[in-house]
Amino acid sequence: MKIMAVNAGSSSLKFQLLEMPEEKVITSGIVERIGNDNATFSIKFNGEKIEQELPVLNHKVAVELLFDALIKHNIISKLEEIEGVGHRVVQGGELFKDSSELTEENILKIESLNDLAPLHNPAHVVGIRAFKEALPNVFQIAVFDTTFHQTMPEENFLYATPYEWYTDYAVRKYGAHGTSHKFVSDRAAELLNKKDAKIIVCHLGNGASLSAVKNGKSIDTSMGLTPLEGIPMGTRSGNIDPAVFGLISEKTGKGISEILNDLNKKSGYLGVSGVSHDSRDIANEIEKGNHRAKLALDIQTKRIADYIGSYYVLLGGLDAIVFTAGIGENAANVRHDIIERVKVLGTELDPELNQLRGENEISKKGSKVKVFVIPTNEEVAIARDVLRLQK
Ligand code: ADP
Repeated sequence: MKIMAVNAGSSSLKFQLLEMPEEKVITSGIVERIGNDNATFSIKFNGEKIEQELPVLNHKVAVELLFDALIKHNIISKLEEIEGVGHRVVQGGELFKDSSELTEENILKIESLNDLAPLHNPAHVVGIRAFKEALPNVFQIAVFDTTFHQTMPEENFLYATPYEWYTDYAVRKYGAHGTSHKFVSDRAAELLNKKDAKIIVCHLGNGASLSAVKNGKSIDTSMGLTPLEGIPMGTRSGNIDPAVFGLISEKTGKGISEILNDLNKKSGYLGVSGVSHDSRDIANEIEKGNHRAKLALDIQTKRIADYIGSYYVLLGGLDAIVFTAGIGENAANVRHDIIERVKVLGTELDPELNQLRGENEISKKGSKVKVFVIPTNEEVAIARDVLRLQK
């Protein structure tokens, strides 16, 4: 059965077509700069990659372009071969406790959450509507980044701000990367052969978040109302004293949105190092003796260790730490630094295993807390949910 996983942004449309339940990628690609004369469309299939620059007026045109390409390149012979579509949606608020079928009612509910994810949810809905129009009879669902964290208890998701901010404006922690946290923590529980495992997931990419998972459920996570909360990332600051807003505004005349932009786009690795947001560049600069690059990484790994320590207490022990996403899967130096900082918990990394690629247990035999690298796969997770809900 062919199932498509879709991620629509404000000017992009990413897709992957999978053969399920085999979880085999048939084709994948992306339309970028939608709304422009010089949009690009790239599609990969049979080990080939085709790229094209052309005007793409809107998401509807992007979807047509995609389906035309699937037929033209004989990837499918007719659209009816696509039996399900799963759309990634960033914010499900408290309205969605699970992935959900995209009925008109649910699409309106997603739109009602626009205030909580102004850059993402409106774009997702544009993509969803384009797909619904093109494939009106196909089963389509939304898979939310937030649902996995909906199991957090009140005391973990509520901020100690005026209670009306929560009741009137839905201000609370929602978390993010939930699809990934669930995918890799489920896999870790399988590897541990333990359903009630206590796991800390470190999803470390450009965006980065940690979660504490017990009995397959997220009980806490580091991102908050938005992805700005938590640990320092490629360009995000993570937690700071909110009073910084007052001081910077007074000193520079910057308004709230400009300061938020600095905290989202000019902080983290980039802000501290002054060199790059990319962990590979940071590692190269550290090799060259760049103090600020080292500091950028040290601040991040220190804060990650803080979270691991607090989640250890929250979980009441720990079976495994899991690394995933671009940095978690590839940057052995970052994994090493983090595990060094938390070794009091009984984690011991095997330096050779730590250099391996792909899914691996990288802790020493006998390490009290196991350490895994588990590549994340959000598209597969989305396609699995389409299968699960279609039944
Ligand atoms: P996102 O999906 O949040 O944009 P990714 O999960 O793709 O981010 O992760 C991007 C990060 O992964 C970058 O900081 C990049 O440097 C890092 N990364 C990717 N490949 C490697 C590698 N081979 N070695 C070290 N870091 C890597």
